[in-house]
Amino acid sequence: MERASSWMVAEKTDAIVLRVVSWSETSLIVTLLTRDFGKISALAKGARRPKSPFEAALDLLCRCRIVFLPKSGDVLDLLTEAKLMRRFRNESRRLPNLYAAYYVVELMRELIDHGQVQSAVYDLADETLLKLEQDAQIDGVLLQFELSLLRLLGHQPNMTRCVGCDRAMVEEGPIDFGLLVSGVLCDRCVAGQRQVIRMRGESRQIFALLSEEAEWESGWLTIPDKVRGECRAIIQRYLTVHFDRQWQLHRYLEDLAR
Ligand SMILES: [Zn+2]
Repeated sequence: MERASSWMVAEKTDAIVLRVVSWSETSLIVTLLTRDFGKISALAKGARRPKSPFEAALDLLCRCRIVFLPKSGDVLDLLTEAKLMRRFRNESRRLPNLYAAYYVVELMRELIDHGQVQSAVYDLADETLLKLEQDAQIDGVLLQFELSLLRLLGHQPNMTRCVGCDRAMVEEGPIDFGLLVSGVLCDRCVAGQRQVIRMRGESRQIFALLSEEAEWESGWLTIPDKVRGECRAIIQRYLTVHFDRQWQLHRYLEDLAR
């Protein structure tokens, strides 16, 4: 008996499609990042029929306006409507932009927990996808996205003070970044540390800036060519070590950078 359904209220919000899985001949299970309810998994009954209430809104990377019935516990939410607002349009027609967009989705899918609601995370993803539709230079956009996301989720590395002794690190030259301890290390504290990477002063400055502020709100930073490769290599290693996992899209982004 579904007692709860009698007073369940349908919710409306904006959403980005993070995953689509076939559930039956006619239905789909979708994972969505919503603006007001965080990440949800929902059953879309009849979505695979030619004429469904979801039209073509349930494709990966689509942004849509949805109506759904939240269910409690481990039960899937029920999606009742999805109206397409924006499909990912790769205007540059460059493959790296598409891979970068898939990577944005991968990070959202894996790093955001169900029940974790932050509209700023949704806005960040939305702004990043918009930027990736046009921009040919993806490295800076991705780094800004990655560090902004880490900051919003409370995983940002400390790039200004030694994480061992809390000393302010004002050096302008190369500096040691401890991936396991999530921050820069002074000469004394670096001894005996594992997973330490040496980074240039310029790279550290960029990491420090993007870790502290929502730069994307005022504009997108361009990373100087000189340190672009280094910045990408460091952020990818940090994400791998910090979350102790391999990211599917890292390999593709590396291949394309060559
Ligand atoms: Zn120290």
